[in-house]
Amino acid sequence: MSVFKNYIDGQWIDSSEVIENINPSDTKDVIGAYAQATNEQAQSAFDCAKRSFDEWQNKGIQFRADALDKIGSEILERKAELGELLSREEGKTLAEGIGEVTRAGHIFKFYAGEVLRLNGDLVPSVRPQVEVEITREPVGTVGVITPWNFPIAIPAWKIAPALAYGNCVVFKPASQVLGSAWALSEIITRAGLPNGVFNLVMGAGSNVGAAILNDNRVDAVSFTGSVTTGGKVAQACTIRGAKFQLEMGGKNPLVVMDDADIDVAVNCAINGAFFSTGQRCTASSRLIVQAGIYDRFVEAMKNGIEALTVGNPLNTDTQIGPVIDQAQLDKDLEYIDIGIKEGATLLAGGEVLKREADGFFLSPALFVDTTNDMRINQEEIFGPIASVIKVNDFEEALSVSNDTQFGLSAGICTTSLKYAHQFKRRSQAGMVMVNLPTAGVDYHVPFGGTKGSSLGAREQGSYAAEFYTKVKTSYILS
Ligand code: NAD
Repeated sequence: MSVFKNYIDGQWIDSSEVIENINPSDTKDVIGAYAQATNEQAQSAFDCAKRSFDEWQNKGIQFRADALDKIGSEILERKAELGELLSREEGKTLAEGIGEVTRAGHIFKFYAGEVLRLNGDLVPSVRPQVEVEITREPVGTVGVITPWNFPIAIPAWKIAPALAYGNCVVFKPASQVLGSAWALSEIITRAGLPNGVFNLVMGAGSNVGAAILNDNRVDAVSFTGSVTTGGKVAQACTIRGAKFQLEMGGKNPLVVMDDADIDVAVNCAINGAFFSTGQRCTASSRLIVQAGIYDRFVEAMKNGIEALTVGNPLNTDTQIGPVIDQAQLDKDLEYIDIGIKEGATLLAGGEVLKREADGFFLSPALFVDTTNDMRINQEEIFGPIASVIKVNDFEEALSVSNDTQFGLSAGICTTSLKYAHQFKRRSQAGMVMVNLPTAGVDYHVPFGGTKGSSLGAREQGSYAAEFYTKVKTSYILS
């Protein structure tokens, strides 16, 4: 099997250490073999990124806009092929895989436009004959560290703005999804960027990831992943004074009020909790349901869950694919056990399923009779598992929904304008959905949370400029 290499200083670089990437729907299907960057190779990526910064600035903004546009066009042209690769290695359905690739293409196109829209301010000084100019400049070299659950969209929403605002990039993807990361990188390498502006270094978090965190040549780190790793990023970057942004976990609530349209509520809950196998940071894992609609909602959820087709995501009738790997499956099963021991009732699912090939298939699980203080309602599981919590009124629903260490996304299903507005205002989450699933967001507006979910400047949309640029204030006597 040929080995997919790292990309450093405009060259494809081999390595003696290689890892294989397995299809979670069929563990005998090896997707590829990927070179693991050595520490020296990571160091040379930091060096060349630093060295190529000036050349990159001199290329000018039309060049940058055209390069990003070209990358976006190729991603969109190849969305069927790249979507299939993504589904095969990550396990989300083919429709979700193609949707994610399309989103990545749109993100590059969006930032191609943003390159030309970056402006500054020219303001009068409080001192006569002095002018003040406020400009945004690139930060320098950005380390991009990404998780496995959105193998192309998350790298895109970090790499595209980093390049758009004139930075160099060292990209370290998650080891479970190197096929999509490599394919995206290969497209970027053909966009005409000067050597060293974009670098791919595949490897373990504890090795290549840690090197990025600790090297003074990396000026900023954009990280998405778990709370535990996020803490390490924050600590390392704070100590050496590097800029960082963290997008981490969630325990997202979906409130269902008595006045909700039951079909809308069930659709939001099933989509939000179980699509993409529940492996989304914005997944609805806590369904907070008012007493008057509770019985109808729970019955409809049980029927809806039992009608879901779990299987190989490349089959067009599959709605829920496999869990990413054995470690995540073990974690999901452990939490199902914890829920039962805590006194919750497992109403549906939670069983390991056999399919045509060996894979990590789990039937979507729904707990009822749960309280918000249970571990299954406080800790991020990151699988197709949701709990129902019964509440009496809006104030209790709001209070339970905010009673979490996380604050990424929160939703409410209601036909009341008053509840909708109150919830938007008083929810402590960074993103609020009314009559929509907690997961599923636009690509041109800010994304991010509060509390333990996020730290640092917002990602995506024009708000991304906050992280990928630094502000300069210049004074001139005329
Ligand atoms: P993870 O923290 O295990 O890994 C994320 C990345 O960090 C990987 O590339 C990994 O190799 C790297 N890494 C691991 N240890 C490191 C270290 N010591 N130094 C530097 N890098 C290191 O997370 P994961 O399991 O890949 O992803 C799942 C998590 O991501 C979930 O908690 C989920 O909620 C979160 N997530 C958050 C968002 C968001 O935008 N808020 C989006 C998607 C996923």
